[in-house]
Amino acid sequence: MTDNIADAVEAELIALSGVLTEPEERECLRCFLLRMLNEFGCDGTHRWTVRWRDLLAPRADGLPARLAELGGCCDCEVLLNVFPQYPRGAGLLPCAGQPQEGSAVPCDLHVLRRTA
Ligand SMILES: [Zn+2]
Ligand SMILES: [Zn+2]
Repeated sequence: MTDNIADAVEAELIALSGVLTEPEERECLRCFLLRMLNEFGCDGTHRWTVRWRDLLAPRADGLPARLAELGGCCDCEVLLNVFPQYPRGAGLLPCAGQPQEGSAVPCDLHVLRRTA
């Protein structure tokens, strides 16, 4: 972590440029949020959730509101309160893929690990 303003501005520009902030094909919401928060952090809104929704689940209009009801009032709270199950100590794992297209249900990393 840094409090260097130039670095913060640069990170923001990269975030806004969109190049590094595209969800991968069929990347699930949880894995996408983990990646984005790891790189860019949470700004107290659903900005990454909305970005994922717009690209991978465009019909899920009510998604941010639904997540908020479950305790996810911003991107980092979605991870903490809505998707708390994540294999510990493994760092970031590659996404196993959305179980269903357009669904916010997270991929099953346990299956991935069992077979690995
Ligand atoms: Zn947050
Ligand atoms: Zn995933």
